[in-house]
Amino acid sequence: MSALALAQALIRQESVTPAGGPVFDVLERSLLPSGFVVDRFLAGEAPDGPVENLLATRAGRGHMLAFAGHLDVVPPGPGWSVDPWSGDVRDGLLVGRGAADMKAAVAAFAAAAARVSDAAAMLIVTGDEEGPATHGTPALIKRMADRGLRPDWCIVGEPTCTDRLGDMMKLGRRGSVNVWITVPGRQGHVAYPHLADNPIGPLVRALAELDALVLDTGTPWFQPSNLEITDLDVGNPATNVIPPAARARLSIRFNDRHDGEDLARRVTAIVRRHAPAAQVTARVSGEAFLTEPGALSDMVSDAVFEVTGLTPEASTTGGTSDARFLSRLCPTIEFGLVNATMHQADEAVAAADVEALAQVYAAMLRRSAVSLVADAE
Ligand SMILES: [Zn+2]
Repeated sequence: MSALALAQALIRQESVTPAGGPVFDVLERSLLPSGFVVDRFLAGEAPDGPVENLLATRAGRGHMLAFAGHLDVVPPGPGWSVDPWSGDVRDGLLVGRGAADMKAAVAAFAAAAARVSDAAAMLIVTGDEEGPATHGTPALIKRMADRGLRPDWCIVGEPTCTDRLGDMMKLGRRGSVNVWITVPGRQGHVAYPHLADNPIGPLVRALAELDALVLDTGTPWFQPSNLEITDLDVGNPATNVIPPAARARLSIRFNDRHDGEDLARRVTAIVRRHAPAAQVTARVSGEAFLTEPGALSDMVSDAVFEVTGLTPEASTTGGTSDARFLSRLCPTIEFGLVNATMHQADEAVAAADVEALAQVYAAMLRRSAVSLVADAE
């Protein structure tokens, strides 16, 4: 099976989040001849859904190696020099929405699994990664639990490389929590402060304390967690009016020393100490995760080196990914194509890299097939 031809066929099916239908038909047709049992189901309701998810399983030798990915893409947006859904190869580049993020990686794994036909393998593929992601990978994980399926290792096919295929894998990602703060006051005349209640002072004192927080000093695998005040808004056009309310927003990117809900409680407590009536709303958009270096990272590194001659740097940079959910099931590492053009106009990857990635995934499957399950971390 040609990984490149399958990647082109996937790109030719428009599949902006929430995705389902034809793009999954293409993937399913490619998996059936390789011995996979394919389970497709819809999850969620409008406006975020319904979204389609696909779970493909094949019994075989060694560890159950899962590949996790998504077939939805972000909207093309303006500025393309070609049809974003043509899937054409131009000057050695596969150009199209989803080329890097991440239809070509899904195609590469399907092609690899067809070649290493005796290896135990699983595909966990959603149509809801780029959107709210509530009906995507979490729904797939629930489906797996209901069916008693659990992989030993998981590879997430997000584009992790920076300059050349093989230069980076991700062992973890930081978590993210956003917080909205509203401090109520009582509007009034600046000259009659005893008749009013100015909300700005308490908010500024709370923000000063939050801004001075040192959450940690980093870990061997992560940079220090950071809290950034991202907005401060009173919206008061008058010089002689004490405003009725003051608002602020902040965002925390945190490493595996922290838990999103704990951080939200800590921020709320600080704000309430300065402004007891403040409304504080927090949303955890992802917890941090880390797969400690071990058997899986060694296996990935060896497979990448065999094909590309590069030893991938182990990194934890970047935003959140669905690996945050999967890492609760089993050791999880991300490895995929070069990410330079993801979400951009004229998104593209080297056509040769698509085949090379299929060879890397095949090398992973061969190694996984001879692993004893007792070796699983
Ligand atoms: Zn992606």
